[in-house]
Amino acid sequence: MTSRLRIAVQKSGRLADRSLELISGAGLRVMKGANELLYRIENQPIDLLRVRDDDIPTFVADGVAELGIVGYNVLAEHFPEDDLEERIVMRLGFGKCTLKIAVPDTATYEGPQSLEGKRIATSYPNILGKWLKDKGVTATIVEMRGAVEVAPRMKIAHAICDLVSTGATLEANGMKAVDLVLASEAVLIKAPHAPPADLEHVYDMLLRRFDGVTASTG
Ligand code: ATP
Ligand code: ZN
Repeated sequence: MTSRLRIAVQKSGRLADRSLELISGAGLRVMKGANELLYRIENQPIDLLRVRDDDIPTFVADGVAELGIVGYNVLAEHFPEDDLEERIVMRLGFGKCTLKIAVPDTATYEGPQSLEGKRIATSYPNILGKWLKDKGVTATIVEMRGAVEVAPRMKIAHAICDLVSTGATLEANGMKAVDLVLASEAVLIKAPHAPPADLEHVYDMLLRRFDGVTASTG
């Protein structure tokens, strides 16, 4: 069996369709086979590894996949800041969202210092922890896997740090966004080691094509 390159992509969710669009835009013909975990590319020695987005940074860092498509927010939660740029091949221009501090509509917020001594619920404890440290604020981070927006109403926390695109979810929960923690978009990431020598030309071709597609779609 000849070896094949692997690209880790989100199986289903907000990045799944756009990731597949990028891949077909690069001329790869995706075979949606019986194997839900692995899609084969018909016309290139490439497979798509379809996983939860949270697993993508580690899979790519471990070399289980040579490339991966993941939100910058997920990458930044997994690795320290000074380690991020060398993992990123290119920014992909989709999946844009922001990680924001939000507080109940009735609360006053006069900057990060308003969070001093407070409890903040988030699924991004590392990113939030670093932001608070940079701002010189000491607060308690309450880690939640989901439904972060209900934390203030449930008296679990005073504020939240959560992904926002339209703000509709915040509004529906009686909250307002008051500060920006991180701006994010989907990024293409690469394994720390070079691809196998016999696949180097496929790898280089792929990066050129992704670059072309990303440049033309902005
Ligand atoms: P998975 O099942 O793969 O773990 P998930 O529920 O963690 O999925 P999604 O909600 O599908 O993740 O979001 C995937 C990524 O899409 C986010 O990490 C983020 O980079 C991006 N994204 C874009 N807009 C939004 C938004 N409004 N809310 C949340 N994420 C968004
Ligand atoms: Zn996830």
